[in-house]
Amino acid sequence: QDVVNKIAAGEIIVAPVHALKELIENSVDAGATMLEILVKEGGLKLLQITDNGHGINRDDLPVLCERFTTSKLKAFEDLTSIGTYGFRGEALASISHIAHLTVATRTKDSSCAWRASYADGKMAAPKAGQSAEPKACAGRIGTQITVEDLFYNIPNRRRAFRSASEEYAKILDLVGRYAIHCTNVAFSCKKHGDSTPGISVPEKANTLDRIRHVHGSSVANELIPLEISDDRWGFKAELWASNANYSVKKTTFLLFINHRAVESSAIKKAVDSLYSTFLPKGGHPFVYLSLEIEPQRVDVNVHPTKREVNFLNEEEIIGVITNEIRENLGKVDTSRTF
Ligand code: ADP
Ligand code: MG
Repeated sequence: QDVVNKIAAGEIIVAPVHALKELIENSVDAGATMLEILVKEGGLKLLQITDNGHGINRDDLPVLCERFTTSKLKAFEDLTSIGTYGFRGEALASISHIAHLTVATRTKDSSCAWRASYADGKMAAPKAGQSAEPKACAGRIGTQITVEDLFYNIPNRRRAFRSASEEYAKILDLVGRYAIHCTNVAFSCKKHGDSTPGISVPEKANTLDRIRHVHGSSVANELIPLEISDDRWGFKAELWASNANYSVKKTTFLLFINHRAVESSAIKKAVDSLYSTFLPKGGHPFVYLSLEIEPQRVDVNVHPTKREVNFLNEEEIIGVITNEIRENLGKVDTSRTF
């Protein structure tokens, strides 16, 4: 059974960044206003995330890594909605099957923090001869999750990772997305041994400041803010799109749908081809887009390896968005026809 669980977990979590995405979403879910991430060897040796969210009750620790035990899975509707984060109830379970997982957590009602280690879905003694029971320890309100030696029991997978810096780059890309999207949350992400973090965004920064922190002023200064509220197709959009006189080497498209970082090749393609009509050859746009769509219109592929999302009236919604960009960027240079 453990082998089956291990294989299933390895299919969900293909790289360290996939585990981290789940952990970030859990922290945001817990109402955290501060997230600190520490990474060793591209996340394969260590992924540690510390938040100041509401914490986990000591009594919930024994079942924390059992699959589907979470409260949020009570209603089936949750599976059709990405309105809330964490709809599967199996992220921590999966991680515990392919890594050494330790949780230290404290709620506001507890006078101390509690630490527990997990293996294969169950609480486990951190060292041979020790107790598997949660151990009282010092700590602030919030949760610290430590994931060590990812894929330690899947040696082929572990060996397939050639470059820690490539994995770290993926991690920075993901953290950068959430750091831009989650206004009111401070983010930092650091590689072990580095004195300055790869990403650092303060709690009180607005969206544009966040983009400036993550991508630099040269990008942030060239962005046009757009807001769309569309009753016909039931969506709202907030976007920051680079203007018609500015381009980047590779399309940077940061997409959130109902507050989850997702991919949509359909929207990306449409945005790309719109810009290609007026940007010089080889130039690409920078676009941050936060879309809110009625959850029942969104089809999240329940299989978690698919980051790609589809939704009803995709063409129409994409049409409204690209029109809005076209009209507003058109004001920059009216001599062009798009
Ligand atoms: P899901 O998020 O789908 O419920 P997870 O395995 O990701 O499943 O997490 C299981 C449960 O553990 C969550 O529902 C939540 O109650 C709790 N949890 C996980 N991470 C945190 C955290 N950082 N702060 C508070 N609670 C957490
Ligand atoms: Mg979760």
